[in-house]
Amino acid sequence: MIQIVDTHAHLESLENIEKVLGEARLKGVAAIVAMGSDYQSDVKTLELAAKFKGYVFPAVGLHPWELGRSQAGELERVLKLIEENNEDIVAIGEIGLDYHKSVKAEASKDRQQAVLKELLLLSRKLGKPVSLHSRYAWKDCLSCVREAAVDKAVFHWFTGFSSVLQGIISAGYYISVTPAAEYHAEHRRAIKEAPLERLLLETDCPVYYGREDRYQSSPVDLRRSLTAAAQIKETDEENIALHTTKNAMKLFNLVL
Ligand SMILES: [Zn+2]
Repeated sequence: MIQIVDTHAHLESLENIEKVLGEARLKGVAAIVAMGSDYQSDVKTLELAAKFKGYVFPAVGLHPWELGRSQAGELERVLKLIEENNEDIVAIGEIGLDYHKSVKAEASKDRQQAVLKELLLLSRKLGKPVSLHSRYAWKDCLSCVREAAVDKAVFHWFTGFSSVLQGIISAGYYISVTPAAEYHAEHRRAIKEAPLERLLLETDCPVYYGREDRYQSSPVDLRRSLTAAAQIKETDEENIALHTTKNAMKLFNLVL
């Protein structure tokens, strides 16, 4: 039976969590790395991970989308939460940069970078991997991670330039495959160019995917990421599962 790991999911945003996790398990999803986006969702993520111990592994972070509406002291609260839960969390995430104009209107590049740098410093101090959002900010995001001398990172749902991808790969970082690999040209190109040793699978659920037939994702859709990756890499699903699960266990220090 295939064993795959969903390395980036927003479980605290899903309904019917027991049912959803049961379905995923039946389809070979052996573990899930659950992301937090701000203090409130971080706390919920930690609670879920405690409830589904050994299956859901928590990450705590502060997403660039949340900076505009976050209250004063949010970053300090998140940093403290990470330190307090250092034993339980497997990563710092979701963190990163987003240079889409709607996001920059809420939080400037400088503000986003300042927040990211604090979180990366803590990652370096604690030796925790980071799960990075880098939309339209791929180059700056890579520069920040390298400058902070963080040695374990995944650029999740990577759709950036080949030149940045080469930097990610040569630094020993990873990229992750979402169900958008079924149809998204830039994402497919990145997956094609990355070696199997640098790939992970994820769903980023409950994100909506699809061009014509839109659907809301859940961890069971990790099978779509797997099938698309196998097709792009011109290999079988077992081989993708073998590599990506090994990579996930190594990066997040998971014991399955
Ligand atoms: Zn995400």
